[in-house]
Amino acid sequence: MDSIPRRSARYHFDYGRQSRLASQLGGSAIRFGRSVEIAVIDFHTHSAASDGALSARDLIDRAAREGVRRMAITDHDTIAGYLSVCQSVPSGLELISGVELSCQWGRVGIHVVALGFDPAASVMTRHLESLDKARRDRAEKIAHKLDRSGMPGALAGAMAVAEGAQIGRPHFARWMVLAGHVESEEIAFKRFLGRGKPGDISMLWPTLGDTVETITAAGGLAILAHPLDYKMTATRLRALTDAFCDAGGVALEVINGRPRPGDTDTLWRLVRERDLQVSVGSDFHRDSPYGAGLGVEIAQIPEGMGVWERL
Ligand code: AMP
Ligand code: MN
Ligand code: MN
Ligand code: MN
Repeated sequence: MDSIPRRSARYHFDYGRQSRLASQLGGSAIRFGRSVEIAVIDFHTHSAASDGALSARDLIDRAAREGVRRMAITDHDTIAGYLSVCQSVPSGLELISGVELSCQWGRVGIHVVALGFDPAASVMTRHLESLDKARRDRAEKIAHKLDRSGMPGALAGAMAVAEGAQIGRPHFARWMVLAGHVESEEIAFKRFLGRGKPGDISMLWPTLGDTVETITAAGGLAILAHPLDYKMTATRLRALTDAFCDAGGVALEVINGRPRPGDTDTLWRLVRERDLQVSVGSDFHRDSPYGAGLGVEIAQIPEGMGVWERL
């Protein structure tokens, strides 16, 4: 028996609400009778190649078991997980190339999900190599800051936790717990690693423009990940969306994990305003009471709006 709760954590569209919203916004009619085969997808997931708990193999096997039909592994700044499984995908599941790229818009760190690119395109492999280096440099800087806060040995510690994965702040957080510096990873972020804290090193990623152009040049589609997580005013979020569109971005991630319905409405409005498409994903990292399970139901998303229709 599979002990994983199958659909409990999955985000369900409120059909009435979405269809009302779609018609208010002049959207196309909801397509009835869409084949159930494509009703559950997931274009934002993490494996142990970055900061997820499951190996890429376990991640896709589990997604297939739970009824996900199309998905992408979108690790932070690495496609190693995707490459390790792309030749042996379970039947019934379609795996699309993916990655979640770190970049900067001015001083703000932004995440862009790339889907359906050629993983061998030199423009993409060069970009990923520069991100490898940026992440190693950042890890050294984070370790230096933690050292100055009375936590020596953070670089070796976080690298041991990462076990060869693309190193990130969650590995430092885990090490801080294991080394007894903090009680939980949440507290590690709150005190040392989160936005504006000593271990939050900024101004180090490639620009938003270069990132979106790289994705497009590699034949992929660029999606602005979790747009509301940047905590911007509506005006600033519009400016970010415009910069993203000008660079060639095509979609906003309107469902990330388990959004509140009001958040989804805000993003749908922006999508309509800027004539964009939408993407959806669980942003699954591990089983947790807070995060979403794998898979997003998309039967109620109006025809022509899903970026997956172009993949
Ligand atoms: P990085 O990619 O190194 O900048 O780390 C960012 C990652 O840390 C995110 O993708 C989340 O998985 C994780 N993260 C961010 N904020 C928190 C938090 N407050 N508590 C736990 N994990 C977090
Ligand atoms: Mn993450
Ligand atoms: Mn992200
Ligand atoms: Mn993510």
